[in-house]
Amino acid sequence: MRHLFYFIFLFTIKLVISQENPPNIILMIGDGMGLTQISSGMYANGNKTALENFDYIGLSKTHALENLVTDSAASGTAMACGVKTYNGVIGIDGKNKTYPSILELTKEKGYSSTLIATSSIVHATPASFYAKVISRDMYEKIAFQLSQHDIDIFIGGGKKHFINRKDERNLISEMTEYEFVNSIEEFKNSTSKKIGFLTYDDEPPSLLEGRKPALDDLVSVSLKKMTSKDRPFFMLVEGSQIDWGGHDRNLNYVISEFKEFNKSIQTVLDFAKTHGNTLVIVTADHETGGLAILKGSLKNSKVRGRFNTNHHSATMVPVFSYGPYSKLFAGIYENTAIFEKMNQALLEKK
Ligand code: MG
Ligand code: ZN
Repeated sequence: MRHLFYFIFLFTIKLVISQENPPNIILMIGDGMGLTQISSGMYANGNKTALENFDYIGLSKTHALENLVTDSAASGTAMACGVKTYNGVIGIDGKNKTYPSILELTKEKGYSSTLIATSSIVHATPASFYAKVISRDMYEKIAFQLSQHDIDIFIGGGKKHFINRKDERNLISEMTEYEFVNSIEEFKNSTSKKIGFLTYDDEPPSLLEGRKPALDDLVSVSLKKMTSKDRPFFMLVEGSQIDWGGHDRNLNYVISEFKEFNKSIQTVLDFAKTHGNTLVIVTADHETGGLAILKGSLKNSKVRGRFNTNHHSATMVPVFSYGPYSKLFAGIYENTAIFEKMNQALLEKK
């Protein structure tokens, strides 16, 4: 009986806290992570994935404004800003109107923010959360827009777009508010309010080729830094290279990248479970490779598959959600609704 009272007491406290404070929002995007990529990674991981522990599952329609098959710019923009656009375009709709991203809207509400990608930080998916450009290939312009932004922590490759530029500017030395760190140790030890960690000069290599630091470590350290501030936070974590494994028609590449991403999902989920008031959403921008699983063995955690294309496909992708407002993400909807639902969590008092 005493336990019951204790439980009700804790539950009431939790309810009061979550009513007063807007939730942390952690969005995790597996680029190219369709259901078969998840299934392959799960079977290859001893038939387990962190995604099994989420509250609700939905399906997202990924098509772009005019193309049935989207690219990461159009779908990144859809999820970040809530508008459909042409393939290749970031943060701008089909009528040339720019939109604020969910990261920018949370900023206005006093949130801190973190962006982490296993590609370069100026690549289409992370760029969708801070840049407005008519072409995803304008890396130097995207880097400049990041330098003018107010993101607390950003981690990814692409250092050359900041320092080896046509306009001969050195954005790293111009970004005086930031400490730029060069290793996970420096990142851990940094006490700077704003931190940039440009992990590679160009695009980071695959995990199979030895990419470091581990995504999981970057996520853990970032979560610690975010909770040390007395504010809610928005965090984007991208498993960027699940997509590149699909473009390469290389299932080992896909699986290894998924496994790393899966580990980070578990870390985020453990954080959400212990800290409360954290909405976690895991989804993909599209499927890559038209992957089919055709053979394998549970006993040996082996999977054999076939790719139908070295590009993206238009199949719906799953959306997994956990925590406050997670119920909003059940059902079938356009990828733009992911923005709307996050925004709802931001605005709505429970
Ligand atoms: Mg991407
Ligand atoms: Zn791709």
